[in-house]
Formats: sequence, structure tokens, C-alpha cells
Amino acid sequence: MGEIQQNIDQIQERIAAAAQKSGRKKEDILLLAVSKTIDAARIKEAVQYGLKELGENKVQEILQKYEPLGKDVKWHFIGHLQTNKVKYIIDKVTLIHSVESLKLAEEINKRAKQINKVMDILIEVNMEGEQSKFGVPPKEALSLIQKIAPLDSVRIRGLMTVAPFVENSEENRECFRRMRQLLVDINQEKIDNVCMDILSMGMSNDFEVAIEEGATIVRVGTSIFGKRIYPQK
Ligand SMILES: *Cc1c(COP(=O)(O)O)cnc(C)c1O
Repeated sequence: MGEIQQNIDQIQERIAAAAQKSGRKKEDILLLAVSKTIDAARIKEAVQYGLKELGENKVQEILQKYEPLGKDVKWHFIGHLQTNKVKYIIDKVTLIHSVESLKLAEEINKRAKQINKVMDILIEVNMEGEQSKFGVPPKEALSLIQKIAPLDSVRIRGLMTVAPFVENSEENRECFRRMRQLLVDINQEKIDNVCMDILSMGMSNDFEVAIEEGATIVRVGTSIFGKRIYPQK
């Protein structure tokens, strides 16, 4: 068995343990394989081993890998999305995790409508107000969702966050807990058209804590594929 397969087995075991610890079912948690910077051949190993949903943060990379990886994978867009690039991926992705403005949602709505699609999206929240990160402040999430809700070719499915990088994953527990509470609070507003059930949070460093606090999608790259090597600019 190859290294990628072994990594996946270990992660699945950890997901199952974290789910059990918090009284959840492991089937309710999607392990999203973050395949950014990884070439199609290595990604294929993960796909053939059962990870059928892949996360990318660059439009260009989805376009390059879309054909080679074939029809049985689902693509998630997890990075900062420029409005002028929505048209390239609208027909290719299952879920856009990183919507943080009305302008972007309107463009997604327009492009989805043109191809008779309803695009599932998440609202990216910057829980800790980090300068280096995208996403809306938690306080602004509700009003953004109220503005996006009437668009009929997008469907808001939940929230996503990129938690701070921490040495000890316990340090992010409170952040994940507040994310879950934000989702509950917004659902209680009973906004027309909005029923959020997805919480995309937790990465290689902290996915177990995220699961214990309610994550339904964990986005894992390094723990599956190893360290990323970024091309020299
Ligand atoms: C790269 C990336 C991940 C995966 O991070 P790892 O630490 O490699 O697991 C998850 N989410 C987003 C948005 C990313 O850009």
C-alpha cells in the first residue's frame, strides 16, 4: 500500500474516533482532499482509494486537472475567487466555499442562471479578524446572507472558515464552537430560502477538534499528500 493510501486510512480512523467521541456519525463528515499544487497522477491515487471530492484554491488548477481526473470527482472551490473568473468554473464545481461579498454572489448567480444551474455556496467567515485572511467578520455574516438569499440561482448551504494556524489544535476549539453557534443563530432567523447545514472547518492541524465542534466538511491537504512544494516564481 502506498503512502497516500496509508495516510487516508489514518485520517479516516481519526475522523471516526473524533465523531464517536462527540456522539456523531462518521458518515456525516466529508473528508475533502485538498489537492492544490499536487499533480493529477498523485491525486488519482487518492481518488481511486475513495476520495471523490477535491478542493482547489486556484481557478487555473481546476481547469488543468479537470479533464485528467475524469468525471467521477467533484470539485470544490476553497480559495479567494475573483469575480471575473467565476465563468471559468461555474459548470465545473459542486460547492464554492469562499463567498464573502454580495458582488461575488451576484456574479455566481448570473453565471449559474446562464447554464440553468443552482450553485451551492458557503459564506466564508473570518472568525478571528486576521488581516491576512479573507471572509466576512462574524457580525456581518447575517446581513450578507440576507442580501444573497433572494438570488435564485445560488443556494446558501452553510459557513466556512480558515481558522488561525496554532501549535495546539485545542486553541481553535473556541473558534469552531463560535462558528457552529453562528450557523445555529442564523438558521433561527428563518430567512426565506436559507437552510444551512454545512460547516466547512478544520484542516490537517485541527480537523479532529473541528469535528468535535460540529464540522461537516474537513479540508485536508498536507496530511494526505505530504508537504506542498510551491513552484518558484
Ligand atoms: C490549503 C488549504 C487547506 C488544507 O490545508 P492543510 O493544512 O494542508 O490540510 C484547507 N483549506 C483551505 C482554504 C486551504 O487553502
